[in-house]
Amino acid sequence: MTRSYISRIFRFAPSPNGYLHLGHGFSALLNREMARAAGGKLLLRIEDIDLERCRPEFEQAIYDDLAWLGLDWQQPVRRQSEHFDAYSEALTSLKKRGLVYPCFCSRADVVAAASEQADVKRDPDDSPLYPGTCRHLSPAERKRRLDAGQSATWRLDMAAALKEVRHAIDWREYDGGTEPRLVEAEPALWGDVVLARKDVPASYHIAVVVDDALQGITDVVRGEDLFTATGLHRLLQTLLDLPSPDYHHHELLRDAAGRKLSKSLRAKSLRALRQDGFTPSEIEAQLGLNERSFSFVP
Ligand code: GLU
Repeated sequence: MTRSYISRIFRFAPSPNGYLHLGHGFSALLNREMARAAGGKLLLRIEDIDLERCRPEFEQAIYDDLAWLGLDWQQPVRRQSEHFDAYSEALTSLKKRGLVYPCFCSRADVVAAASEQADVKRDPDDSPLYPGTCRHLSPAERKRRLDAGQSATWRLDMAAALKEVRHAIDWREYDGGTEPRLVEAEPALWGDVVLARKDVPASYHIAVVVDDALQGITDVVRGEDLFTATGLHRLLQTLLDLPSPDYHHHELLRDAAGRKLSKSLRAKSLRALRQDGFTPSEIEAQLGLNERSFSFVP
């Protein structure tokens, strides 16, 4: 069976930690148009593992704003906060193989340890790479601290993970266009990333690969700010024996100063645009959606 006979499944996966802005609208509508062009389905996933920042009113606003834009999605909606057991199971598989280790450092410890190095290495998001302090703890010391109830994050042992995989990993990338190319993953850029946090037994990276697999996602359409993280996602998929979707990383909308729109920059929300009297078709026209081609080569 070739890829073109498989029913294609897309997903839009917002986090309810603020109101959706025009950039989210763009991504959601691209998902819809690509799903339509492929004769596939569109799912909605609420990425709410960050229990401190996510709020029910933002989740409700996601449903309202997307419905206003004219989006419809298949039920049920998957809420990540209801599936911590699935992420723990994936983590357990990595624990059993010695590919993750507990890290007792605080955020301040990590910054301090990294800055003691002559040349501070940074990950693609510009955070200092973890210098590996807790990777060097003995198994007995780890056990002692865990048994004593010290809280820990769980980090991927990147060197051990790469050693287990041994071959190069790639993915099919469309760059928001219609023709695929193969991209070689560079997971090592992320160092020993956190896969489970102290407060919740998961992180974005592990939850997204588990959910994309469990929901049978064939096409991930999302902003190009997640392009480099895809290398890490491909490594996790390989380690966990999960399939690789095709990826369509689209351009980000920018403001007049060239900064990407983000909740933190208080980009104008879709609901504010609605209150200002914009209609969904005006928004679509503003996003240039009617000038794009969506029939990608499967
Ligand atoms: N929840 C992420 C966000 O809102 C999207 C992650 C993804 O599409 O993989 O930025």
